[in-house]
Amino acid sequence: MSDLESFRAEVRTFLEKETPGAIRGASFSSDQAYWGGRKAELPHPESKRYCEIMASRGYTAPTWPKEYGGGGLSAAEAKVLDQELARLKLPIPLTGFGLAMIGPTLLQFGTEAQKQEHIPKIVRGEIRWCQGYSEPGAGSDLAAVATSARIEGEELVLNGQKIWTSYGDKSDWMFALVRTDANVKKQQGITFVLFDMAQPGVEVRPIRLISGASPFCETFLTDARAKQSNIIAGMGNGWTVAKALLGHERNMIGSVFGSGGSRTSANAAKTNRNPLVDLAREHVGDEAGRIADPVVRDRVTQIGMDHRAFMLTIQRNADNLKAGHKPGPESSIFKIYGTELNQRREELMLSIRGPRALGWEGTDNGPFAPEDLAQTRTWLRSRGNTIEGGTSEVQLNIIAKRVLDLPD
Ligand SMILES: Cc1cc2nc3c(=O)[nH]c(=O)nc-3n(C[C@H](O)[C@H](O)[C@H](O)COP(=O)(O)OP(=O)(O)OC[C@H]3O[C@@H](n4cnc5c(N)ncnc54)[C@H](O)[C@@H]3O)c2cc1C
Repeated sequence: MSDLESFRAEVRTFLEKETPGAIRGASFSSDQAYWGGRKAELPHPESKRYCEIMASRGYTAPTWPKEYGGGGLSAAEAKVLDQELARLKLPIPLTGFGLAMIGPTLLQFGTEAQKQEHIPKIVRGEIRWCQGYSEPGAGSDLAAVATSARIEGEELVLNGQKIWTSYGDKSDWMFALVRTDANVKKQQGITFVLFDMAQPGVEVRPIRLISGASPFCETFLTDARAKQSNIIAGMGNGWTVAKALLGHERNMIGSVFGSGGSRTSANAAKTNRNPLVDLAREHVGDEAGRIADPVVRDRVTQIGMDHRAFMLTIQRNADNLKAGHKPGPESSIFKIYGTELNQRREELMLSIRGPRALGWEGTDNGPFAPEDLAQTRTWLRSRGNTIEGGTSEVQLNIIAKRVLDLPD
Protein backbone atom coordinates (compact mmCIF):
# COMPACT_ATOMS: atom_id res chain seq x y z
CA MET A 1 0.00 0.00 0.00
CA SER A 2 1.42 3.45 -0.94
CA ASP A 3 1.88 6.13 1.71
CA LEU A 4 -1.06 8.06 0.30
CA GLU A 5 -3.32 5.00 0.33
CA SER A 6 -2.47 4.23 3.95
CA PHE A 7 -3.08 7.88 4.79
CA ARG A 8 -6.49 7.63 3.09
CA ALA A 9 -7.34 4.53 5.12
CA GLU A 10 -6.30 6.26 8.35
CA VAL A 11 -8.32 9.42 7.58
CA ARG A 12 -11.35 7.39 6.55
CA THR A 13 -11.31 5.42 9.80
CA PHE A 14 -10.91 8.63 11.83
CA LEU A 15 -13.75 10.43 10.08
CA GLU A 16 -16.10 7.45 10.19
CA LYS A 17 -15.42 6.74 13.87
CA GLU A 18 -15.07 10.21 15.34
CA THR A 19 -17.26 12.69 13.45
CA PRO A 20 -20.91 13.08 14.53
CA GLY A 21 -23.19 11.13 12.18
CA ALA A 22 -25.84 13.84 12.40
CA ILE A 23 -23.69 16.38 10.60
CA ARG A 24 -23.11 14.17 7.57
CA GLY A 25 -25.10 15.23 4.56
CA ALA A 26 -25.46 18.76 5.93
CA SER A 27 -24.50 21.12 3.13
CA PHE A 28 -23.89 24.70 4.19
CA SER A 29 -23.50 27.76 2.03
CA SER A 30 -20.48 29.85 3.02
CA ASP A 31 -22.68 32.21 5.05
CA GLN A 32 -24.11 29.33 7.08
CA ALA A 33 -20.83 27.57 7.74
CA TYR A 34 -19.35 27.48 11.24
CA TRP A 35 -17.26 30.60 11.91
CA GLY A 36 -16.34 29.88 15.56
CA GLY A 37 -15.41 32.66 17.99
CA ARG A 38 -16.51 33.73 21.44
CA LYS A 39 -20.02 34.53 20.16
CA ALA A 40 -20.19 31.47 17.91
CA GLU A 41 -23.46 30.77 16.09
CA LEU A 42 -24.23 27.13 15.33
CA PRO A 43 -25.50 26.38 11.81
CA HIS A 44 -25.98 22.80 13.06
CA PRO A 45 -26.25 21.59 16.69
CA GLU A 46 -23.06 19.53 16.21
CA SER A 47 -21.01 22.26 14.48
CA LYS A 48 -18.87 23.18 17.49
CA ARG A 49 -18.17 19.59 18.52
CA TYR A 50 -17.38 18.63 14.92
CA CYS A 51 -14.97 21.59 14.65
CA GLU A 52 -13.21 20.58 17.88
CA ILE A 53 -12.85 16.97 16.75
CA MET A 54 -11.35 18.04 13.44
CA ALA A 55 -9.11 20.64 15.10
CA SER A 56 -7.74 17.98 17.47
CA ARG A 57 -5.95 16.56 14.40
CA GLY A 58 -5.24 19.95 12.81
CA TYR A 59 -7.80 19.18 10.08
CA THR A 60 -9.39 22.64 10.22
CA ALA A 61 -6.10 23.94 8.75
CA PRO A 62 -4.74 20.78 7.12
CA THR A 63 -1.56 22.14 5.54
CA TRP A 64 -0.49 24.52 8.33
CA PRO A 65 2.52 23.47 10.44
CA LYS A 66 1.85 21.07 13.29
CA GLU A 67 3.68 23.24 15.84
CA TYR A 68 0.87 25.82 15.60
CA GLY A 69 -1.96 23.30 15.68
CA GLY A 70 -2.24 22.68 11.93
CA GLY A 71 -2.37 19.24 10.30
CA GLY A 72 1.10 19.36 8.76
CA LEU A 73 -0.27 17.61 5.68
CA SER A 74 1.29 17.71 2.22
CA ALA A 75 -0.79 19.12 -0.67
CA ALA A 76 -1.53 15.56 -1.82
CA GLU A 77 -2.64 14.46 1.66
CA ALA A 78 -4.86 17.53 2.02
CA LYS A 79 -6.54 16.63 -1.24
CA VAL A 80 -7.19 13.12 0.08
CA LEU A 81 -8.75 14.64 3.21
CA ASP A 82 -11.01 16.80 1.01
CA GLN A 83 -12.06 13.75 -0.97
CA GLU A 84 -12.84 11.77 2.18
CA LEU A 85 -14.88 14.66 3.62
CA ALA A 86 -16.85 14.83 0.36
CA ARG A 87 -17.33 11.05 0.37
CA LEU A 88 -18.99 11.20 3.81
CA LYS A 89 -20.83 14.42 2.84
CA LEU A 90 -19.18 16.26 5.72
CA PRO A 91 -19.15 20.08 5.56
CA ILE A 92 -15.91 21.99 6.01
CA PRO A 93 -15.52 22.16 9.80
CA LEU A 94 -14.57 25.83 10.13
CA THR A 95 -14.42 28.92 7.97
CA GLY A 96 -13.62 32.58 8.45
CA PHE A 97 -11.10 35.34 8.01
CA GLY A 98 -8.77 33.69 10.54
CA LEU A 99 -8.22 30.67 8.32
CA ALA A 100 -8.51 32.48 5.01
CA MET A 101 -6.70 35.75 5.65
CA ILE A 102 -4.89 36.57 8.89
CA GLY A 103 -3.64 33.03 9.60
CA PRO A 104 -1.69 32.65 6.32
CA THR A 105 -0.43 36.23 6.72
CA LEU A 106 0.86 35.53 10.23
CA LEU A 107 2.56 32.38 9.01
CA GLN A 108 4.39 34.55 6.48
CA PHE A 109 5.14 37.67 8.52
CA GLY A 110 4.51 36.92 12.21
CA THR A 111 7.21 36.48 14.83
CA GLU A 112 7.44 33.13 16.59
CA ALA A 113 5.62 34.59 19.61
CA GLN A 114 2.83 36.02 17.42
CA LYS A 115 2.35 32.70 15.67
CA GLN A 116 2.28 30.83 18.99
CA GLU A 117 -0.25 33.27 20.42
CA HIS A 118 -2.73 33.54 17.55
CA ILE A 119 -2.55 30.60 15.17
CA PRO A 120 -3.63 27.77 17.51
CA LYS A 121 -6.72 29.82 18.47
CA ILE A 122 -7.57 30.30 14.79
CA VAL A 123 -7.17 26.57 14.12
CA ARG A 124 -9.46 25.70 17.04
CA GLY A 125 -12.07 28.31 16.03
CA GLU A 126 -11.77 30.11 19.37
CA ILE A 127 -11.37 33.63 17.97
CA ARG A 128 -13.30 35.14 15.09
CA TRP A 129 -11.49 37.83 13.09
CA CYS A 130 -12.62 40.80 11.04
CA GLN A 131 -10.82 43.09 8.65
CA GLY A 132 -10.32 46.79 9.45
CA TYR A 133 -8.98 48.14 6.15
CA SER A 134 -11.60 50.45 4.54
CA GLU A 135 -12.44 53.90 5.87
CA PRO A 136 -14.85 56.55 4.62
CA GLY A 137 -11.91 58.21 2.80
CA ALA A 138 -9.95 55.06 1.93
CA GLY A 139 -11.45 52.32 -0.25
CA SER A 140 -9.81 51.73 -3.63
CA ASP A 141 -7.16 54.18 -2.48
CA LEU A 142 -6.46 52.07 0.57
CA ALA A 143 -3.10 53.71 1.27
CA ALA A 144 -5.04 56.83 2.30
CA VAL A 145 -6.05 55.24 5.65
CA ALA A 146 -6.25 57.92 8.32
CA THR A 147 -7.08 56.03 11.53
CA SER A 148 -4.26 57.22 13.76
CA ALA A 149 -2.09 55.24 16.15
CA ARG A 150 0.28 56.80 18.65
CA ILE A 151 2.67 55.00 20.95
CA GLU A 152 1.94 55.10 24.67
CA GLY A 153 4.16 52.81 26.74
CA GLU A 154 3.80 49.24 25.52
CA GLU A 155 0.66 50.08 23.54
CA LEU A 156 -0.66 51.85 20.46
CA VAL A 157 -3.62 54.17 21.06
CA LEU A 158 -6.03 54.07 18.11
CA ASN A 159 -8.47 56.77 16.97
CA GLY A 160 -10.57 56.86 13.81
CA GLN A 161 -13.28 55.07 11.87
CA LYS A 162 -13.36 51.91 9.81
CA ILE A 163 -16.25 51.07 7.50
CA TRP A 164 -17.71 48.02 5.74
CA THR A 165 -16.26 45.83 8.47
CA SER A 166 -17.80 42.48 7.47
CA TYR A 167 -19.22 40.69 10.54
CA GLY A 168 -17.61 43.26 12.84
CA ASP A 169 -20.41 42.75 15.38
CA LYS A 170 -19.76 38.99 15.49
CA SER A 171 -15.99 39.15 15.67
CA ASP A 172 -13.57 39.09 18.59
CA TRP A 173 -10.37 40.52 17.13
CA MET A 174 -9.60 42.89 14.25
CA PHE A 175 -6.58 43.06 11.97
CA ALA A 176 -6.30 46.69 10.94
CA LEU A 177 -4.30 49.21 8.97
CA VAL A 178 -3.49 52.34 10.94
CA ARG A 179 -1.46 55.47 10.26
CA THR A 180 1.63 55.76 12.43
CA ASP A 181 3.43 58.39 10.35
CA ALA A 182 1.72 61.19 8.42
CA ASN A 183 4.96 62.79 7.21
CA VAL A 184 6.25 60.16 4.79
CA LYS A 185 4.98 58.73 1.46
CA LYS A 186 1.51 57.46 2.33
CA GLN A 187 2.32 53.75 1.89
CA GLN A 188 5.30 54.05 4.24
CA GLY A 189 3.40 55.46 7.21
CA ILE A 190 1.02 52.50 7.60
CA THR A 191 1.24 49.88 10.35
CA PHE A 192 -0.58 46.53 10.44
CA VAL A 193 -1.83 45.73 13.92
CA LEU A 194 -4.08 43.23 15.72
CA PHE A 195 -6.31 44.07 18.65
CA ASP A 196 -9.01 42.61 20.85
CA MET A 197 -12.37 44.31 20.15
CA ALA A 198 -13.79 43.56 23.60
CA GLN A 199 -12.68 46.88 25.11
CA PRO A 200 -14.40 50.22 25.82
CA GLY A 201 -12.73 52.17 22.97
CA VAL A 202 -14.29 49.99 20.23
CA GLU A 203 -17.85 50.66 19.09
CA VAL A 204 -19.38 48.57 16.30
CA ARG A 205 -22.56 49.65 14.51
CA PRO A 206 -24.17 47.34 11.92
CA ILE A 207 -25.17 48.89 8.55
CA ARG A 208 -28.45 47.74 7.03
CA LEU A 209 -28.14 46.85 3.34
CA ILE A 210 -30.43 46.66 0.30
CA SER A 211 -30.77 42.88 0.84
CA GLY A 212 -32.28 43.54 4.29
CA ALA A 213 -29.31 41.96 6.07
CA SER A 214 -26.67 43.77 8.13
CA PRO A 215 -23.45 41.87 7.58
CA PHE A 216 -21.31 45.04 7.61
CA CYS A 217 -20.49 47.48 10.32
CA GLU A 218 -18.98 50.83 10.97
CA THR A 219 -16.28 50.53 13.61
CA PHE A 220 -15.40 53.55 15.70
CA LEU A 221 -12.11 53.61 17.60
CA THR A 222 -11.79 56.12 20.44
CA ASP A 223 -8.56 55.68 22.37
CA ALA A 224 -8.75 51.94 21.70
CA ARG A 225 -5.64 50.00 22.73
CA ALA A 226 -3.46 47.56 20.82
CA LYS A 227 -0.36 45.96 22.29
CA GLN A 228 2.83 46.83 20.45
CA SER A 229 3.63 43.13 20.54
CA ASN A 230 0.70 42.75 18.10
CA ILE A 231 2.25 44.93 15.38
CA ILE A 232 3.01 42.68 12.41
CA ALA A 233 6.33 43.12 10.57
CA GLY A 234 7.24 46.31 12.47
CA MET A 235 6.07 49.93 12.54
CA GLY A 236 5.59 51.47 9.11
CA ASN A 237 5.77 48.13 7.26
CA GLY A 238 2.01 47.55 7.12
CA TRP A 239 1.56 48.15 3.39
CA THR A 240 3.59 45.05 2.42
CA VAL A 241 1.62 42.92 4.89
CA ALA A 242 -1.68 44.45 3.72
CA LYS A 243 -0.99 43.56 0.07
CA ALA A 244 0.00 40.00 0.93
CA LEU A 245 -3.21 39.54 2.90
CA LEU A 246 -5.24 40.92 -0.03
CA GLY A 247 -3.77 38.16 -2.19
CA HIS A 248 -5.23 35.57 0.20
CA GLU A 249 -8.53 37.48 0.36
CA ARG A 250 -8.90 37.70 -3.42
CA ASN A 251 -8.18 34.01 -3.85
CA MET A 252 -10.83 33.22 -1.25
CA ILE A 253 -13.48 35.54 -2.73
CA GLY A 254 -12.84 34.25 -6.25
CA SER A 255 -13.07 30.60 -5.30
CA VAL A 256 -16.00 30.89 -2.85
CA PHE A 257 -18.22 32.92 -5.15
CA GLY A 258 -16.97 31.34 -8.36
CA SER A 259 -17.93 27.93 -7.01
CA GLY A 260 -21.44 29.16 -6.25
CA GLY A 261 -20.74 29.70 -2.55
CA SER A 262 -21.40 26.20 -1.31
CA ARG A 263 -19.70 22.91 -0.94
CA THR A 264 -22.54 21.23 -2.82
CA SER A 265 -21.87 23.25 -5.92
CA ALA A 266 -18.12 22.65 -5.64
CA ASN A 267 -18.81 18.93 -5.50
CA ALA A 268 -21.29 19.20 -8.34
CA ALA A 269 -18.50 20.76 -10.40
CA LYS A 270 -16.26 17.78 -9.66
CA THR A 271 -18.95 15.38 -10.90
CA ASN A 272 -19.68 17.47 -14.00
CA ARG A 273 -23.23 18.13 -12.77
CA ASN A 274 -24.55 21.60 -13.52
CA PRO A 275 -26.97 22.57 -10.71
CA LEU A 276 -28.65 25.18 -12.93
CA VAL A 277 -30.06 22.40 -15.12
CA ASP A 278 -32.47 21.16 -12.44
CA LEU A 279 -33.65 24.69 -11.69
CA ALA A 280 -34.24 25.40 -15.38
CA ARG A 281 -36.10 22.11 -15.92
CA GLU A 282 -38.35 22.89 -12.96
CA HIS A 283 -39.25 26.42 -14.05
CA VAL A 284 -38.90 26.42 -17.83
CA GLY A 285 -39.89 22.81 -18.51
CA ASP A 286 -38.32 19.73 -19.98
CA GLU A 287 -38.60 18.72 -23.63
CA ALA A 288 -37.32 15.32 -24.64
CA GLY A 289 -34.83 15.32 -21.76
CA ARG A 290 -33.56 18.85 -22.48
CA ILE A 291 -34.37 22.27 -21.05
CA ALA A 292 -37.34 23.35 -23.15
CA ASP A 293 -36.25 26.91 -23.96
CA PRO A 294 -33.20 26.98 -26.31
CA VAL A 295 -32.05 30.43 -25.10
CA VAL A 296 -32.08 29.36 -21.45
CA ARG A 297 -30.43 26.07 -22.45
CA ASP A 298 -27.64 27.98 -24.15
CA ARG A 299 -27.03 30.28 -21.14
CA VAL A 300 -27.12 27.36 -18.69
CA THR A 301 -24.62 25.44 -20.80
CA GLN A 302 -22.28 28.41 -21.19
CA ILE A 303 -22.22 29.09 -17.44
CA GLY A 304 -21.81 25.37 -16.76
CA MET A 305 -18.75 25.23 -19.01
CA ASP A 306 -17.23 28.44 -17.62
CA HIS A 307 -17.83 27.19 -14.09
CA ARG A 308 -16.16 23.87 -14.79
CA ALA A 309 -13.11 25.46 -16.42
CA PHE A 310 -12.82 27.97 -13.56
CA MET A 311 -13.06 25.29 -10.87
CA LEU A 312 -10.24 23.34 -12.53
CA THR A 313 -8.09 26.49 -12.55
CA ILE A 314 -8.98 27.19 -8.91
CA GLN A 315 -8.06 23.61 -8.03
CA ARG A 316 -4.69 23.99 -9.73
CA ASN A 317 -4.10 27.22 -7.83
CA ALA A 318 -5.21 25.64 -4.54
CA ASP A 319 -2.73 22.79 -5.09
CA ASN A 320 0.06 25.35 -5.63
CA LEU A 321 -0.90 27.21 -2.45
CA LYS A 322 -0.95 24.00 -0.44
CA ALA A 323 2.52 23.28 -1.79
CA GLY A 324 3.74 26.59 -0.33
CA HIS A 325 3.25 29.07 -3.21
CA LYS A 326 2.35 32.58 -1.96
CA PRO A 327 -0.49 34.33 -3.79
CA GLY A 328 0.67 37.21 -5.96
CA PRO A 329 -1.06 39.68 -8.30
CA GLU A 330 -2.54 36.79 -10.28
CA SER A 331 -5.09 36.42 -7.45
CA SER A 332 -6.80 39.46 -9.04
CA ILE A 333 -7.63 37.25 -12.04
CA PHE A 334 -9.40 34.71 -9.82
CA LYS A 335 -11.16 37.49 -7.95
CA ILE A 336 -12.53 39.22 -11.03
CA TYR A 337 -13.47 36.06 -12.91
CA GLY A 338 -15.02 34.23 -9.95
CA THR A 339 -17.14 37.18 -8.84
CA GLU A 340 -18.33 38.09 -12.32
CA LEU A 341 -19.19 34.45 -12.97
CA ASN A 342 -21.23 34.42 -9.77
CA GLN A 343 -23.11 37.54 -10.85
CA ARG A 344 -23.90 35.97 -14.24
CA ARG A 345 -25.11 32.84 -12.47
CA GLU A 346 -27.28 34.79 -10.03
CA GLU A 347 -28.81 36.82 -12.87
CA LEU A 348 -29.60 33.68 -14.80
CA MET A 349 -31.22 32.07 -11.75
CA LEU A 350 -33.29 35.20 -11.31
CA SER A 351 -34.55 35.13 -14.91
CA ILE A 352 -35.23 31.38 -14.75
CA ARG A 353 -37.51 31.93 -11.75
CA GLY A 354 -39.15 34.85 -13.56
CA PRO A 355 -41.65 36.96 -11.54
CA ARG A 356 -41.26 34.55 -8.61
CA ALA A 357 -37.80 35.96 -8.01
CA LEU A 358 -39.18 39.44 -7.43
CA GLY A 359 -40.62 38.69 -4.00
CA TRP A 360 -39.48 40.27 -0.76
CA GLU A 361 -41.68 38.67 1.87
CA GLY A 362 -44.85 36.61 2.42
CA THR A 363 -44.75 32.89 1.75
CA ASP A 364 -48.00 31.81 3.45
CA ASN A 365 -50.26 30.82 0.55
CA GLY A 366 -48.62 33.64 -1.38
CA PRO A 367 -46.94 33.39 -4.76
CA PHE A 368 -43.43 32.99 -3.30
CA ALA A 369 -41.72 29.87 -1.99
CA PRO A 370 -38.92 30.37 0.58
CA GLU A 371 -36.35 29.52 -2.16
CA ASP A 372 -37.81 32.30 -4.36
CA LEU A 373 -37.39 34.85 -1.59
CA ALA A 374 -33.89 33.60 -0.84
CA GLN A 375 -33.06 34.02 -4.53
CA THR A 376 -33.99 37.71 -4.52
CA ARG A 377 -31.66 38.28 -1.59
CA THR A 378 -28.70 36.23 -2.84
CA TRP A 379 -28.93 38.08 -6.16
CA LEU A 380 -28.83 41.41 -4.33
CA ARG A 381 -25.91 40.16 -2.21
CA SER A 382 -24.00 39.21 -5.36
CA ARG A 383 -23.93 42.88 -6.46
CA GLY A 384 -21.27 43.48 -3.80
CA ASN A 385 -19.01 40.71 -5.15
CA THR A 386 -17.32 42.99 -7.64
CA ILE A 387 -16.68 45.63 -4.95
CA GLU A 388 -15.51 43.65 -1.87
CA GLY A 389 -11.80 42.86 -1.64
CA GLY A 390 -11.16 45.62 -4.22
CA THR A 391 -13.43 46.54 -7.13
CA SER A 392 -13.21 44.96 -10.58
CA GLU A 393 -11.69 48.18 -11.95
CA VAL A 394 -8.95 48.00 -9.33
CA GLN A 395 -8.31 44.32 -10.17
CA LEU A 396 -8.00 45.23 -13.87
CA ASN A 397 -5.45 47.91 -12.97
CA ILE A 398 -3.43 45.34 -10.97
CA ILE A 399 -3.58 42.77 -13.77
CA ALA A 400 -2.52 45.39 -16.33
CA LYS A 401 0.42 46.63 -14.26
CA ARG A 402 1.65 43.69 -12.27
CA VAL A 403 0.68 40.63 -14.32
CA LEU A 404 0.85 41.93 -17.92
CA ASP A 405 3.51 44.56 -17.19
CA LEU A 406 1.68 47.18 -19.28
CA PRO A 407 2.84 50.80 -19.03
CA ASP A 408 0.91 53.29 -16.81
C1 LIG B 1 -19.59 42.85 0.43
C2 LIG B 1 -18.49 43.74 0.91
C3 LIG B 1 -17.71 43.37 1.99
C4 LIG B 1 -16.68 44.21 2.45
N1 LIG B 1 -15.98 43.84 3.57
C5 LIG B 1 -14.99 44.64 4.02
C6 LIG B 1 -14.30 44.31 5.22
O1 LIG B 1 -14.58 43.30 5.88
N2 LIG B 1 -13.31 45.13 5.65
C7 LIG B 1 -12.96 46.26 4.95
O2 LIG B 1 -12.04 46.92 5.38
N3 LIG B 1 -13.63 46.62 3.83
C8 LIG B 1 -14.64 45.84 3.35
N4 LIG B 1 -15.34 46.20 2.21
C9 LIG B 1 -15.03 47.46 1.54
C10 LIG B 1 -14.36 47.30 0.17
O3 LIG B 1 -13.03 46.88 0.31
C11 LIG B 1 -14.46 48.66 -0.54
O4 LIG B 1 -15.84 48.93 -0.76
C12 LIG B 1 -13.74 48.65 -1.87
O5 LIG B 1 -12.35 48.57 -1.68
C13 LIG B 1 -14.08 49.90 -2.71
O6 LIG B 1 -13.89 51.08 -1.97
P1 LIG B 1 -15.04 52.18 -1.90
O7 LIG B 1 -16.32 51.51 -1.54
O8 LIG B 1 -14.55 53.26 -1.03
O9 LIG B 1 -15.22 52.71 -3.39
P2 LIG B 1 -14.32 53.81 -4.12
O10 LIG B 1 -12.88 53.52 -3.89
O11 LIG B 1 -14.83 55.15 -3.74
O12 LIG B 1 -14.64 53.52 -5.64
C14 LIG B 1 -15.80 54.05 -6.30
C15 LIG B 1 -15.74 53.66 -7.77
O13 LIG B 1 -14.58 54.25 -8.40
C16 LIG B 1 -13.81 53.24 -9.05
N5 LIG B 1 -12.37 53.55 -8.91
C17 LIG B 1 -11.73 53.99 -7.80
N6 LIG B 1 -10.41 54.13 -8.05
C18 LIG B 1 -10.21 53.74 -9.34
C19 LIG B 1 -9.05 53.65 -10.19
N7 LIG B 1 -7.83 53.96 -9.75
N8 LIG B 1 -9.24 53.19 -11.46
C20 LIG B 1 -10.47 52.84 -11.92
N9 LIG B 1 -11.61 52.94 -11.16
C21 LIG B 1 -11.47 53.36 -9.88
C22 LIG B 1 -14.13 51.95 -8.31
O14 LIG B 1 -13.90 50.82 -9.11
C23 LIG B 1 -15.61 52.15 -7.99
O15 LIG B 1 -16.40 51.77 -9.09
C24 LIG B 1 -16.40 45.41 1.76
C25 LIG B 1 -17.19 45.79 0.65
C26 LIG B 1 -18.23 44.98 0.24
C27 LIG B 1 -19.08 45.41 -0.93
